[in-house]
Amino acid sequence: MDLQHRIGSDIMMAFDECTSPLNSYEYTKKSMERTNRWLDRSIVAHKNFKEKQALFGIIQGGEYENLRKESARVVGKKEMPGFAIGGSFGDFKEALGTTVSWVTGILPEEKPRHLLGIGKIRDIFAAVEQGVDLLDCVIPTREARHRMLYTKHGRLYLRKLKHLDEPIEKNCSCLGCREKVTTSQLWSWFLKKDLRASTYTTLHNIQFYSDLMREIREGIEMGKFEESKEYYYKYY
Ligand SMILES: [Zn+2]
Repeated sequence: MDLQHRIGSDIMMAFDECTSPLNSYEYTKKSMERTNRWLDRSIVAHKNFKEKQALFGIIQGGEYENLRKESARVVGKKEMPGFAIGGSFGDFKEALGTTVSWVTGILPEEKPRHLLGIGKIRDIFAAVEQGVDLLDCVIPTREARHRMLYTKHGRLYLRKLKHLDEPIEKNCSCLGCREKVTTSQLWSWFLKKDLRASTYTTLHNIQFYSDLMREIREGIEMGKFEESKEYYYKYY
């Protein structure tokens, strides 16, 4: 809490334990109850802090429906500006959407729900569909540093013998695409360990993700969410 105050983050997270899918039911339950006690202590630590920073409580409970729901009931009752959903979501294909839906049905509808550490394209659509408003993830920036680029026609991996004298994506408004930096130029910078390579690719992926989120928001307003989802599921 002290560190987050010092950093001045706009959205602060209460202290929690992110359990692993390998943890047993008993362990996950104990951990969730401890996370709830930590939440009370986090709220106390934040109470008299003068700067405007929003403290979110975190829902845990692993892949267990009754634990997730109990966590959402306890945490959702606190006077807080928003809530986060954390931890593991189980292994089966639709697990993320299902786990999120257990929780979003209980949390107050007027407050933002933040899904912690999720950034795969399909998962974003599945989460938003269940009522998630905010997400955070290292994927756009980390993968950019590893030469993986996100485009409206799927992912583009820069590698030997496969680069073009064209920018990453037409109609992209990121700095590199506007300056017509080509993928072959990026590739040669990667080879030379020139930091311009990962700078441009990072800016591109961030642009892609913010455009995607804008498209999702507008899609919800205009009744085109399903259409966007179907489109991106073809490529991701
Ligand atoms: Zn771009």
